[in-house]
Amino acid sequence: MRRDWLNIVVGMLLTGSSSLVLSVDSVAQVIKSGPPSCPGIALTFDLCPVLKGPGYDQPLMDYLITHRIPATFFMSGKWMAKHEAEVDHLLGMEFFEVGTHGDVHAHLPMHTTDEQRTEILGPVKMLQKHHAYEATLFRPPYGEYNDITIAVVNMLGLRFIQWNIESGDPDPTLSVEQILTRVTQRVKPGSIVVFHANGKGKHTKQVIEQLTTDVLPRKGLRPLTISELLNCMPPNP
Ligand SMILES: [Zn+2]
Repeated sequence: MRRDWLNIVVGMLLTGSSSLVLSVDSVAQVIKSGPPSCPGIALTFDLCPVLKGPGYDQPLMDYLITHRIPATFFMSGKWMAKHEAEVDHLLGMEFFEVGTHGDVHAHLPMHTTDEQRTEILGPVKMLQKHHAYEATLFRPPYGEYNDITIAVVNMLGLRFIQWNIESGDPDPTLSVEQILTRVTQRVKPGSIVVFHANGKGKHTKQVIEQLTTDVLPRKGLRPLTISELLNCMPPNP
C-alpha cells in the first residue's frame, strides 16, 4: 500500500482529530515470531466458534494446567459468549495469557473499516466488561487481514500476533506423527506455533504432550507466553 493512502486510512480512523496523521512507520507490525536469540517458543491456541460439540478441549486444557505449561489463547467473542466459566478459569491461570480472535470469526478483508473495527473490538470489550481483563493481543480469524486491519489494530493499541508455524491440527486427515514431524522440523528459537483448543484438533493433546516432554526439551526450548516470548532475552553466557 502507498504511504499516502495508508495515512488517509489511519487519519480517517482518528475521529475528529484530522491533525493527527500517523506515518506508515508507526503502524503496528504483524508479529510472526519472537527473538531468534530466545531459548523459548510460544504455544498458541485459537478458540474459534464451533457449530457442534462442546467447543472446549477439556483433556488438552487439563494437561496444560496440570503441568503448568505456559500458553496463549486467542478467544473469539462468539466462543466467549458460550464459555463464560471457561474464560474466567483460563484467566485465573498465571501461566496463561489471553488475546482476542475477532467477534464472530469474520473474514476481515471482505469488510469495511467500520465493520473490521466492530469485529476486532467486540471480544476486547467483552473481556473488559464481563471479566475485568484488558486484552492487548489480537490474532485475525483465519489469519486473514489487509492494510485496513493493520491500521485498525494499531489504532486500537493492540498487538497483531500471527505465527510462523501452522500445526495443521484441525485437519482430520493428519495423524499425530504427521503433525509432530511438521512442527519438529520447523520449530526453532522464537517460534510461534498455532493450534486449536476448541476441540477441532483431534490430536492436539497428544502432539502437545510429545512436544513438551520430548521435542522441546531435546532442542533446549521451553514454552513461554507471547508476552514472555516477545520480552525474552538471550540466555546468560
Ligand atoms: Zn480461528
